[in-house]
Amino acid sequence: MIPFIDTHAHIDGEEFAEDREAVIARAKEAGAKAIFLPAIDLTSSERILQLCQQYPGYLYGMVGLHPEEVKADYQEALEKIKALLLPLTADVSPLIAIGEVGLDYYWSREFKQEQLEAFETQVQWSVETHLPLMIHCRKAQNELVHIIKKYAKELPGGVFHCFTGNEKEAEELLQFDRFVLGIGGVSTFKKSHLPEVLPAVVPLDRIVLETDSPYMAPVPLRGQRNEPAYVAHVLKKLAEAYGVTPEVIAEQTNRNVERVFGVKL
Ligand SMILES: [Zn+2]
Repeated sequence: MIPFIDTHAHIDGEEFAEDREAVIARAKEAGAKAIFLPAIDLTSSERILQLCQQYPGYLYGMVGLHPEEVKADYQEALEKIKALLLPLTADVSPLIAIGEVGLDYYWSREFKQEQLEAFETQVQWSVETHLPLMIHCRKAQNELVHIIKKYAKELPGGVFHCFTGNEKEAEELLQFDRFVLGIGGVSTFKKSHLPEVLPAVVPLDRIVLETDSPYMAPVPLRGQRNEPAYVAHVLKKLAEAYGVTPEVIAEQTNRNVERVFGVKL
């Protein structure tokens, strides 16, 4: 059993309503020493803060508005979500990041302008609160990089979650030296280029592990509901890719998490 951290699991979602306790028990058994829960909207932000209080020191949460949830009323949603940030003082807060936030033009560009504004506002929250960013980006890296560049000097750092890009895209994101790439189940998919891209241009101190549960289950569980315990498959794949043991990957990614999120776990 190798201790690892799942930095991105939506286990507050209804997919886990029936057996969340068992999922968390399996995660512990598999070696997960902490799980980070990204929010997607106001409801999940509230739910996550509550859930984290039930598992102190094990579940850590985020609040934020996911780009796919940005609609015409996004300003109202952001106001309410921001109110959740304020009462939490650093030493009692289960809040570990702002997220997940970003840009997603894959499904729709209908709210492109709103997405840009919502993202920039939440980037400013990160600057104000010193909480790192959990960033989602799909088909929008140019626009995303443009905004991060504006705040790069003041931002505490963060994760480009679910990285699936090529060498050039990886290098472009790694120019932000307090940021890392979140690597999950996609790295195990047959057609993925990550096993070549990562060791070529991404040093081991620039990645963290994630599942994106319930999505992106790794091979051989692809298509099933993903859960934090399955990180083991990603660890194995990354160990092969980098030519080290799974223990080395786990230890280094744990250190990366502590550095980026400013926590000791
Ligand atoms: Zn996510």
